[in-house]
Amino acid sequence: MYSSGRRMANTLFQKVWNAHAVRTLPSGQTQLFVGLHLIHEVTTPQAFDMLRQNGWRVAFPGRTFGTVDHIVPTRSRTRPFLDVMAEEMSASLERNCREFGINLWTAEEEDQGIVHVIGPELGLTQPGMTIACGDSHTSTHGALGAVAFGIGTSQVRDVLASQCLSLDPLKVRRIDVAGQLKPGVYAKDVILTIIRRLGVQGGVGFAYEYGGSTIDGMTIDERMTVCNMSIEGGARVGYVNPDETTFRFLRGRRFAPQGEAFDRAVAWWREIASDGNASYDDRVAFDASAIEPTVTWGINPGQSVGVTEPIAGDTRDEAFAFMGFAPGARVAGTKIDVAFIGSCTNGRLSDLEVAAAIVRGHKVAPHVQALIVPGSQAVRRAAEARGLHEVFIEAGFEWRGPGCSMCLGMNPDRLQGRQVCASSSNRNFKGRQGSPTGRTLLMSPAMVAAAAIAGEVVDVRTMMEPAHA
Ligand code: SF4
Repeated sequence: MYSSGRRMANTLFQKVWNAHAVRTLPSGQTQLFVGLHLIHEVTTPQAFDMLRQNGWRVAFPGRTFGTVDHIVPTRSRTRPFLDVMAEEMSASLERNCREFGINLWTAEEEDQGIVHVIGPELGLTQPGMTIACGDSHTSTHGALGAVAFGIGTSQVRDVLASQCLSLDPLKVRRIDVAGQLKPGVYAKDVILTIIRRLGVQGGVGFAYEYGGSTIDGMTIDERMTVCNMSIEGGARVGYVNPDETTFRFLRGRRFAPQGEAFDRAVAWWREIASDGNASYDDRVAFDASAIEPTVTWGINPGQSVGVTEPIAGDTRDEAFAFMGFAPGARVAGTKIDVAFIGSCTNGRLSDLEVAAAIVRGHKVAPHVQALIVPGSQAVRRAAEARGLHEVFIEAGFEWRGPGCSMCLGMNPDRLQGRQVCASSSNRNFKGRQGSPTGRTLLMSPAMVAAAAIAGEVVDVRTMMEPAHA
């Protein structure tokens, strides 16, 4: 176990790793205890089948929590779902959770939502934890100082059966972002800029530790947006050291420690943060004031460009032909067909508030289908309590129920043919949004809102009130 006595200066990653290491395996990998296992309907059916075939039980059902998100329809929750496959996946997760004694939030329940939205929202995600989930964007939870791994189906089985994962250690890259973001520039622009510079493979073998004055000044929601896309830069894990912002966020949340236990936890959470003199395997620095609203133009999240900048590149790159851009072109002015605000990257209340401020008093362009999909039932309720749904509906957006929706093509919300989508999600791979030829432009929720109104990609700063701009 990690001890607070005399010790070497360490990073949060190393401290959490050491505290959860069970043993070194003959393979050289580390067997790591998993503090929290989050499950959903897509990556669990075979894992539970394997448990049954072997006569195994779930080792720690009390550390396992489930929700449905990927396949749930966002228009109607009436059961059975019209899509037979979606109904079967949902029903199968319900059966499995019942049989193995696991807490599950179904589509009808008030705490349902995208797995990476509800974990922090309910206070399940806490600093110093190891977290695993069968979804690539599990790194989101690192925003609260957890070390969180996206895992595959066979690892889901391993965690269900043993509460452990076998992993190779990671190196740690410190990413400092310092300075003031300009108006109209958000956490999404920061992470797109980081991935653009370091590359989509740049983080392979690394955990990314984000810090510096810009990150320090961010809310937990904004830190979640940054950590969420770590995997798109190749990093298995992304995190921010816990601080007063983290403790304020967690206090009073349902699954967070309560009363004196919370104060004791805070003392430990402070200790688990990286030491000031910790050494890193690599360090890079970014100037926040140089970042502008950023949009992807290609077919991976590293292919992005500032909205006023020309696209650089080589025409032999298949992204140009697929997306219909040419080197030297600008993304501003690209006509869009669909606008999507949602996902575990940007489907939280603060994202909807920013988008509503842009949308208020405007109308969605007649040729655009525009969707607002809250990340959870709690986000939906909070947004409705503030009247945000009325702002969106009045402008011509569709106000939907919580789920992954158009982040990926596993539910009825899909692009058609070569449609172009301005999207607040995290992946712009070919076919990601449900149409093999559909085109995704990733950007901040504010930029999506602006594109929905203009009918084309536009610099959101030109649409902001002087008070905001
Ligand atoms: S919103 Fe997208 S990235 Fe997030 S959990 Fe759902 S499918 Fe995965």
